[in-house]
Amino acid sequence: MAVSESMIQDIVKEVVAKMNISAPSGHMHGVFPTMEEAIREAEKAQKIVRNLSMDQREKIISVIRRKTRENAEIIARMGVDETGMGNVGDKILKHLLVADKVPGTEDIKTEAYSGDRGLTLVEMGPFGVIGAITPCTNPSETVLCNTIGMLAGGNTVVFNPHPQAIKTTIYTINMVNEASLEAGGPDNVACTVEVPTMETSKTMMQSPVIQLLVATGGPGVVTTVLSSGKKGIGAGAGNPPALVDETADVRKAAQDIVNGCTFDNNLPCIAEKEIVAVASIADELMNYMITEQGCYLASKEVQDKLTSTVMDAKGRLNRKCVGRSAKALLAMVGVDVPDNIRCIVFEGPKEHPLITTELMMPILGMVRCKDFDEALETALWLEHGNRHSAHIHSKNVDRITRYAKALDTAIVVKNGPSYSALGFGGESICTFTIASRTGEGLTSAKSFVKMRRCVMSDSLCIR
Ligand code: NAD
Repeated sequence: MAVSESMIQDIVKEVVAKMNISAPSGHMHGVFPTMEEAIREAEKAQKIVRNLSMDQREKIISVIRRKTRENAEIIARMGVDETGMGNVGDKILKHLLVADKVPGTEDIKTEAYSGDRGLTLVEMGPFGVIGAITPCTNPSETVLCNTIGMLAGGNTVVFNPHPQAIKTTIYTINMVNEASLEAGGPDNVACTVEVPTMETSKTMMQSPVIQLLVATGGPGVVTTVLSSGKKGIGAGAGNPPALVDETADVRKAAQDIVNGCTFDNNLPCIAEKEIVAVASIADELMNYMITEQGCYLASKEVQDKLTSTVMDAKGRLNRKCVGRSAKALLAMVGVDVPDNIRCIVFEGPKEHPLITTELMMPILGMVRCKDFDEALETALWLEHGNRHSAHIHSKNVDRITRYAKALDTAIVVKNGPSYSALGFGGESICTFTIASRTGEGLTSAKSFVKMRRCVMSDSLCIR
């Protein structure tokens, strides 16, 4: 039997109703009526975590990993149902990726200097209670990767999540605390408030207990956190271009770009948001995307309708369009397409609003450039100085090097889909907090600790 979208929605609603999380509840571990209480309880928990051995911290993290795998589908469905963004299949993959590839205590390394005057260790110690702000685009994924890294570093964390994703966040925070209790750790290693607001966010930022703030979201929140007078890690917005030159495997580039762009309906901040193509291969690239990769070529009329639907006159995004499928977006402008259509493509100037704006929707505009030099300048312009992510498809190593240096982004993927930067089909770790603005890059436990120098004078050098 074919399962329709509305049947899936009904099933999700039933599951969520059975879970009794329709109203944020004080019975959920780590959830408090006020931010003050949340901070107080996280502080109590941190005093315990501070004294746990690395082995004990790792035990808690391993139970978080197991529960994340076991709950991947439930959380994925809940996230899609609550926010209306993304798709369940990809969200499941994202949670499995978090479970498998977010580093734990192994990420924290000690430096040692040994010599005639003794031994000096540079140890990485906790900040204490960390204040974290999370987006509605990857709500549970961000809570999980932040908590694992922060806990590995000996911290606890208070979240002020996006209000649009509060149920999903509460479910995840409860799960993390249940994992801690199961592993013999304290409750409230991660905390939040029942109703997050700008006020609770302010209380969190101003609390003397909190010395490190981590913001994952758009430019507004990152700027606010960086203006707080405290140390801030800012994981901000991007608008990643994918450059394709005439040396690339154009057919594979079409596949990689559309795969990356459509992953979780384009929600990841690292995902391809527009294409910059060298003129001699532009038609071939577009042709492969349309004939082999499930792309719909939007006419000028459809582009105009999409523009006025997905954003207002000031360029502010219509939240109802963010993270929706290509089919759903096209339906909103009266175009019915088959289910295999997964991306909307068109060619336009770099100033086109659907190209220059970070949409977080599977809409890929292509800008045609006469040669690589012009393509590089165009990609640089489109990235808007976010220094976040940029991707390139080329076999010319010198060009790849030039591109990576010029774009100066936290992530550059060469000849692959953007998600390989998250360890999905690529090497290394996963995170959903990419600190582009403040330079930590892909954050992990080592981003959430402070350096402490421990000096033994004139002894313990045994060389
Ligand atoms: P958003 O900026 O609307 O909200 C993010 C969080 O910040 C939410 O919890 C929101 O309530 C809070 N917030 C917003 N303005 C605030 C302010 N002035 N003071 C305090 N809190 C504030 O973003 P979103 O729609 O939830 O997420 C999408 C955006 O986040 C995109 O721009 C995307 O690129 C970015 N993002 C970046 C990363 C990264 O790792 N760099 C990861 C995910 C999302």
